[in-house]
Amino acid sequence: MWVLGVTGGIGSGKTTVTNLFAEYGIEVIDADLIARAVMAPGSAALTAVNERYGPQALLADGNLNRGWLRERVFSDPSEKTWLNQLTHPLIRQKLLEQLEQARSPYVILSAPLLIENKLTALCDRVLLVDVSPAVQRERTVARDQVSSAQVDAIMQVQASRQERLAVADDIIHNDGPLADLSPQVQHLHELYLTLASKALQ
Ligand code: ATP
Repeated sequence: MWVLGVTGGIGSGKTTVTNLFAEYGIEVIDADLIARAVMAPGSAALTAVNERYGPQALLADGNLNRGWLRERVFSDPSEKTWLNQLTHPLIRQKLLEQLEQARSPYVILSAPLLIENKLTALCDRVLLVDVSPAVQRERTVARDQVSSAQVDAIMQVQASRQERLAVADDIIHNDGPLADLSPQVQHLHELYLTLASKALQ
């Protein structure tokens, strides 16, 4: 399977862009959704989290209290390491299963932390959805109803724009209006069809 990694920081437009690729029939695997599934109620990972931190790590309905866990590991690198060692192999395993099951001419792996979590190793090519920090902040604040300070804190722990640009094979510029995206996606989709069919010959 020929895999296109799609990355970009919080609110950069990954979902908006991958939805356009999906209109061409390309299957999209979202690492965030898999990360959530791995921590579903009853999962081994959620049980381990519950054993380590107690009931405060869970919401009343039995789901993971993501906000609490984020705060807990944010201030404590050794806890972050523990959590990553628990979840990353499980996430990788599920990603690989879904990549193998994909049936479109190529498949997209969409992950905000593609670079940080070294998922680039699973990708044949990397597409960056690039926006300026000001636009990124403004769109995320509008979408998530959060303060710009909260968005800044998340942007700080994600890879920098420069780090992403250094890894990317292709770039979609998303500072402009939504209408600017379709022509960029169409052009890249044609390129990827060619690259994937050559690679899979
Ligand atoms: P996250 O990683 O945080 O889930 P994302 O990279 O998937 O974010 P999107 O949810 O696709 O980002 O986009 C962020 C917000 O910006 C959404 O509300 C989306 O509708 C909006 N948006 C994306 N691109 C544009 C654009 N070109 N013009 C205006 N709004 C846009």
